[in-house]
Amino acid sequence: MKASLSEREPLRLKKWKEKNQYQKIRATRRGQEKYVLLDGPPYANGEIHIGHALNKILKDIVVKSQSLNGKDAAFLLTWDCHGLPIELNVEKKYGKVGQKIDPTSFRQRCREYASSQVEIQKVAFERLGIIADFEHPKLTMDFSYESNIIRLLGKVIENGHLARGYKPVHWCLDCGSSLAEAELEYKDKISASIEVKFLAENASAVAEIFKVKSSLPTSMIIWTTTPWTLPANQALCLGPEMTYVLIEVNGQENVLIAESLMEKVLARGKIQEHRVLARAMGRDLESLKFLHPFQARSVPVILGDHVTVEEGTGIVHTAPAHGLEDFEIGKKYGLPVENPVGENGCYLPNVPEFSGVFVRKADELIIERLRTSGALWSHFPLTHSYPHCWRHKTPLIFRATSQWFISMDQAHLRRETLAAIETVNWIPLSGKARILSMIQDRPDWCISRQRVWGTPIPLFLHKTTETLHPETLKILASVAKAVEQGGVEVWFENPRQFCSDENYSPVMDTVDVWFDSGASHFCLLEHESVLQFPANMYLEGSDQHRGWFQSSLLSSVAYRKVAPYREVLTHGFTVDDKGHKMSKSLGNVIAPEEIIKTFGADVLRLWVAGVDSRLEMVVSMSVFQQVAETYRRLRNTLRFLLANLDGFEPSKALAYPDLLGLDQWVLRRAEQLQKEVRASYDSYQFHHVVQKIHYFCSIELGGFYLDVIKDRQYTCQRESLPRRSVQTVMFHLLHTLVRALAPILSFTADEVWELLPGNSGELFAATWLNFSEMSGLKIKDESIQALMHLREEVNKEIEILRAAGKLGSSLEAEVSVSVDPERFALLAPLQEELRFALITSSAQISCGENRIQVKVSSHPKCGRCWHRLETVGKNSKHPELCDRCVQNVEGSGEVRAMV
Ligand SMILES: [Zn+2]
Ligand SMILES: [Zn+2]
Repeated sequence: MKASLSEREPLRLKKWKEKNQYQKIRATRRGQEKYVLLDGPPYANGEIHIGHALNKILKDIVVKSQSLNGKDAAFLLTWDCHGLPIELNVEKKYGKVGQKIDPTSFRQRCREYASSQVEIQKVAFERLGIIADFEHPKLTMDFSYESNIIRLLGKVIENGHLARGYKPVHWCLDCGSSLAEAELEYKDKISASIEVKFLAENASAVAEIFKVKSSLPTSMIIWTTTPWTLPANQALCLGPEMTYVLIEVNGQENVLIAESLMEKVLARGKIQEHRVLARAMGRDLESLKFLHPFQARSVPVILGDHVTVEEGTGIVHTAPAHGLEDFEIGKKYGLPVENPVGENGCYLPNVPEFSGVFVRKADELIIERLRTSGALWSHFPLTHSYPHCWRHKTPLIFRATSQWFISMDQAHLRRETLAAIETVNWIPLSGKARILSMIQDRPDWCISRQRVWGTPIPLFLHKTTETLHPETLKILASVAKAVEQGGVEVWFENPRQFCSDENYSPVMDTVDVWFDSGASHFCLLEHESVLQFPANMYLEGSDQHRGWFQSSLLSSVAYRKVAPYREVLTHGFTVDDKGHKMSKSLGNVIAPEEIIKTFGADVLRLWVAGVDSRLEMVVSMSVFQQVAETYRRLRNTLRFLLANLDGFEPSKALAYPDLLGLDQWVLRRAEQLQKEVRASYDSYQFHHVVQKIHYFCSIELGGFYLDVIKDRQYTCQRESLPRRSVQTVMFHLLHTLVRALAPILSFTADEVWELLPGNSGELFAATWLNFSEMSGLKIKDESIQALMHLREEVNKEIEILRAAGKLGSSLEAEVSVSVDPERFALLAPLQEELRFALITSSAQISCGENRIQVKVSSHPKCGRCWHRLETVGKNSKHPELCDRCVQNVEGSGEVRAMV
């Protein structure tokens, strides 16, 4: 059997497109209950990879299976179109803004670039067999979407969640921008680990607290792995309840460190001789002053509970401009947050000795400076986990900047978000704990970026008081209206048109792209008539707990205090057959295109459905070979059923009570299969769908039913009841299977649908098959179970004879079985027709001890049905036929009840 999927699928796609299939399906669902899956936007940059394909196919399966339930399930495709990666690509081609290109043309190029990327990805998604509204993709750069981002921002401000702060944020020197938590990547980095002496301004004041007499110079020792932050040092922080020791070293100087870290610090400083002079508690040392090691100023001792004795010296170098904890404690002590590092990563002109030095180059210079002045206590390389930019893979710095935040605690956002999490069904449940802990621990959400290509944060700040313009909400509304007409450009080109008061200046930041995409609950769910708020389903990779699921949740709760989704389904990630993550650098990437070219999109879809997507999913050509085998089994079953419907019309279908016993049973099994498949779809266990259909096709149909009914198909009269009965069942089986498979094997199912008598309208507009008229049964399910069991036993015996060369076909065998009374009661209704079920020329059954006898028949073979029967040769007109064949050829046809 040759499916040639890679050639035939594109033709079917063309057909779907030509008849505008998506809209046709939609038309059949108007007014029905909605099922809303909201597509999380992929970023409009580059070719799609296997992860994209997996995600979109899963969504397509959900949408199609909900449509089978009769729901009105729209599928809008979305794309994330603002932000840095697009800027970088435009920069590569046209140069940096302000150098070779003006901001307006730059934004225009960004728009064009994003559109081109959307087109590339759209074609690739369409090839997967996704049925969605490809004509109307929803882009975060659509004017309507952009304007609604601004409107949502207005709601968030109105509800009191916006905060402005001068705060240290993760800053990428290469992006020249702050980064969101979701944009960080922790990787090992080798840093310079140094210990530095801060000389006491007044050594005798220290000696006094320790109650010792010493006139030696006295220092505190701090530890840091970021020497470049030393210019921003504003304090030395001690643990209030920790014990500190004053130690005389080498008879030359005194140093002050935490007692429990003493040995290690002395060892690192290679100290030969030391003498502990005295001890004191951290709290007694507060407000002593020490001299900055290379700047002409002194810094105070402060106390903080975050000081630990795990590593370092027990004295924390505090630079409020470069660290969150330092910033918080600095606020408490009123320390200046002077940030010596500019946006370009170089020290500002007012930084003595190092002005203009790039911070990545600064460590070396500062260490040398400390060494020369004798302030360097120790210096070692240290490998530690350190935040890097997810795009540039370069280490980040913490840099205090003026930024806009969605505050987690102001106006109770954290509390309300935690409550909203409880209302959502997280699948799998582990996702709930993940997002709960993320929300519990997360800092305020920094939503401002210093970028060119993005949605503005169109605010006006008072030039001296730095307060928001009193008409802020009105201004936002008018900006939103203008953006709806002309895009974000209208703001950037002339912000003054929205507020002419010269006392206020416009904020020129853009909003974090995660706010853009997270806003889709407002921009799409609320504003697209085919959708509704909240969504039934958000479905993405499990990394989105810190990305889109979270940004959507926070902005939704900030707007209306509820989650934007009822269910969140996550899937895992793809790995190669050695368990390695797929990456370009490892060279183990298999593009969806390659799989489709080799096997066809339906095989890719079958793989997506067949793997347990909650776990890591292995992608390799050999895995796809196996999936292709499964595909062939399913396709063969469909083909066999179709082939046997030749000449059948739905009007010829028999009613359930008229069907033969075995046919009734298969129909009941089909109904049961549909029930189970439907439940598996509804609980998003698509691998169970595949397993169940595959089992049904290969074991119950392929291994039993279709084997048994061949005799009836080929020997009974064309229009006879036994043949009509089996064709009726095949017709219903096809209608069951084609529906059950449609969400997964969309191309193949649609191909079958076209050839299937009794189809009406579009396959993807169909609902589940109605099995309602099945009452009464000629044979019990238990009898069929007993029969299948008996068949196995008999076949074993036949196999022995065959191995011994005594017979070829099972029709050469005559079987005589004796079974216990319980089994006899089950098998007795088959009686005369047992031989057809066992595919032997004769089968006698009696009640007694369990025993099976198989012998080779001595009767002649009927030329028509190949059964070996006594009656062959008895009819002079048809000497080559058995009696039932004679009856089928010129009589009224044989009668069958069960098999
Ligand atoms: Zn970066
Ligand atoms: Zn015959």
